[in-house]
Amino acid sequence: MAQYIYNFGGGSADGTTDMRNLLGGKGANLAEMASLGLPVPPGFTITTDVCIEYYKNGRQYPDGLSAAVADALARVEDIVGKKFGDAKNPLLVSVRSGARASMPGMMDTVLNLGLNDETVEGLAELAGDDRFAFDSYRRFIQMYSDVVLGVDHHTFEDIIDTYKDERDYFLDTDMGADDWRAVVDLYKDAVAEALGRPFPTDVNEQLWGAIDAVFGSWMNDRSKTYRRLNNIPESWGTAVNVQAMVFGNMGDTSATGVAFTRDPSTGENSYYGEFLVNAQGEDVVAGIRTPQALTTKARAEMGSNDPSLEEVMPETFKELSDVFAKLEAHYADMQDIEFTIEQGKLWMLQTRSGKRTAKAALKIAVDLCQEGKITEEQAVMRVGPASLDQLLHPSLDPHAPRDLLTKGLPASPGAASGEIVFSADEAEKRAADGHKVMLVRTETSPEDIHGMHAAVGIVTARGGMTSHAAVVARGMGRPCVCGAGELRIERDGSGATIGGRAIKAGDMLTIDGSTGEVFFGEVLTVQPELSGDFAKVMEWADKCRRMKVRANAETPLDAQTARDFGAEGIGLCRTEHMFFEASRILAVRQMILAETERGRRSALEKLLPVQRSDFTELFEVMAGLPVTIRLLDPPLHEFLPHTDAEIVEVAEATGVDPDVFRRRARELEEANPMLGHRGCRLGITYPEIYEMQVRAIMQAACDVAKASGESVVPEIMVPLVATVSELRILKARIEAVAKEVFTEKGQTLEYTIGTMIELPRAALTADQIAGEAEFFSFGTNDLTQTTFGLSRDDAGSFLPSYVRAGLLEQDPFVSIDRDGVGALVEIAVEKGRRVKPDLKLGICGEHGGDPLSIDFCERVGLDYISCSPYRVPIARLAAAQAAVSAKKG
Ligand code: ADP
Ligand code: MG
Ligand code: MG
Repeated sequence: MAQYIYNFGGGSADGTTDMRNLLGGKGANLAEMASLGLPVPPGFTITTDVCIEYYKNGRQYPDGLSAAVADALARVEDIVGKKFGDAKNPLLVSVRSGARASMPGMMDTVLNLGLNDETVEGLAELAGDDRFAFDSYRRFIQMYSDVVLGVDHHTFEDIIDTYKDERDYFLDTDMGADDWRAVVDLYKDAVAEALGRPFPTDVNEQLWGAIDAVFGSWMNDRSKTYRRLNNIPESWGTAVNVQAMVFGNMGDTSATGVAFTRDPSTGENSYYGEFLVNAQGEDVVAGIRTPQALTTKARAEMGSNDPSLEEVMPETFKELSDVFAKLEAHYADMQDIEFTIEQGKLWMLQTRSGKRTAKAALKIAVDLCQEGKITEEQAVMRVGPASLDQLLHPSLDPHAPRDLLTKGLPASPGAASGEIVFSADEAEKRAADGHKVMLVRTETSPEDIHGMHAAVGIVTARGGMTSHAAVVARGMGRPCVCGAGELRIERDGSGATIGGRAIKAGDMLTIDGSTGEVFFGEVLTVQPELSGDFAKVMEWADKCRRMKVRANAETPLDAQTARDFGAEGIGLCRTEHMFFEASRILAVRQMILAETERGRRSALEKLLPVQRSDFTELFEVMAGLPVTIRLLDPPLHEFLPHTDAEIVEVAEATGVDPDVFRRRARELEEANPMLGHRGCRLGITYPEIYEMQVRAIMQAACDVAKASGESVVPEIMVPLVATVSELRILKARIEAVAKEVFTEKGQTLEYTIGTMIELPRAALTADQIAGEAEFFSFGTNDLTQTTFGLSRDDAGSFLPSYVRAGLLEQDPFVSIDRDGVGALVEIAVEKGRRVKPDLKLGICGEHGGDPLSIDFCERVGLDYISCSPYRVPIARLAAAQAAVSAKKG
């Protein structure tokens, strides 16, 4: 028969800390503490296997479980010298749930189990304290009825409140033994009334009721929701811990508390915790009384007059400090601890690795490493890459006053304040005049990019976490709140309302893109702090990392940010972003609307010098590092004039009849632009566009190489290739233009030509394509769209419900879909490398900044990842962690 029960306490334990899959986190660590010789009240853990069996067999326990429980309980009775249900000398227990991962959605703990009208008298007698016994009894009835019997806890709170009111009592401590006796009777009546049967007096019935409730809670709605949100599989099951009670409510030499072995918000190496005298269980966190500080130092810092534990119980405090030191040394990590002091005797009730802020995580990792408790590699594994986001953007000053207008989606982190503008052009104009502007739109589209760039932050009324505004804002590192549903903007852009409150252009607005909050007026912010610990962990991460980390950047400013954050090149420069700026859009429109090659060429001539200077600046910032430049990609219609006034403007500037342009604009409209005339298809049909771009790139590269004496490494990237013939044609043209430029400059330099792999056909024919390409960059945004046959811009209406219903484990635009999109990537890697073993492989979609996807990239052997500048440190850490875990297998 399998072992269903693991004992702990009394100086030994059956389990260990690595058995958390079987014993749950709480059970495994209770066992570990008991083995370490720490004072743990004895008890036993019923394994998660029992939970799994229970559900497999239609809520039936495996044979032999009840006998095993009885044996384990007898062992506890022996150790403490009390008997469960004994009227003279009663043993009381707690029944505690405990899954592998901590799950706040699970059943609450039941304390003081084993009390009834007889045993309570025995308890009172033993303790010589009626008040304590009846306080425990009323706690038990309340918890058990709430958690196991499903009687609403308000029922009990109301009874106490009324009872106190009638007697002018204020605190629980005003209640004496007779008061609690009276409350117990009122409670029992209330339960009998609510359930139509009396509160169970049989202690075994109580015990099994609680065990059933813990296993039952694994399938309650709260747990299911929590599991879904945190990716916890249903198949794990929960364990149940039954443990002898110790009492923090036995008078003034008793107490209960929680502690962290280091400060969880700063990481500082000093104890941090709270306790309450004469209290039990959750009283400390429940907020009924104000808890006291553990240390005298913390008390002084808080300016509190209530004495610290260090002051009221110096001996126990000393003992507790020794336990902290022992646990930290043992687990080599900061611990979050629960303890109880029963009449001066210390008992340990829980320990686990404590949750912490990013700042604390960095400090603790560095300190533990420098204290010689962990290695550099372990330190690197201790910090959650995604949490670094907290440190990479300005945040609201927590003390600053604020006026909340509404809350939308936290689309792009960071806080910012600016004057409201309702159009991208207005944003650009006001920003050019030196104003900080907040772009407020119903939604955004590619033609708003220049305004988004000019703005300090963006708010939209519509759209989800993967809407245009959200994706672009994250890429640019602009704080953004999306889908602020209460926002209504007047059609003519004259003003707006948020939840009925009017706002107008020029008003100050502040957003917190990390919470989705929108405030009226300016709220002060604090700048990101890249402390010494941060730099240290990055340095260690770089030692563990195999893949290079590059950034997606177009502007010199973004490139500089990326370089400052440690980017080792640019993995994606989207040339079209350079086309949207107000000063150029006219020439771009002229080019698109031209009906002849000659017309296009004359417009392109105007664009050549501006593109060249863009690239010159970019190469200067990135000197010595590779820069991948993608030739024009989006459908032309994205650049088209939208209003007739704009058409007239272009017509006037070029001296062409506006009607010609109107007709041309209609011609260019497509039913499905994302699958239309875009990417290299444009390069094939309008060769002069790519020619101009390649000329600009090569001229700039030659100029910068000559002026700086440093190497300039352009990598020209062709987007949306579906067939090798497309690439073959374009490659020949690119080489021809490069040669022309070299002749004209009397200079040559190294450059490479590669392609994006972003269509399933390209992935499947990667062997053919590799014959013509020197590198592949996986454009996993488009590859996801085309693999799923799903447009990212239209996914918002149903994708979230797919994820909620479990049809998809996660949003495939956020984390790469390994089974589908990932399989295509693997095929392309394998086929590409077979033809060309030194083919350089990278990724440049949004996934390049997502830790889970980065892990995938490591495993398929990509050479580099590329992400937005502000995610570079996250990617460096994630790549390091991926390399370490890949090494471990
Ligand atoms: P949670 O997982 O919600 O923290 P716990 O099972 O840890 O639930 O218990 C809730 C509270 O009850 C904690 O404060 C814990 O220390 C206390 N507690 C649990 N078991 C006992 C016990 N045997 N004796 C005294 N206090 C206990
Ligand atoms: Mg706990
Ligand atoms: Mg693409």
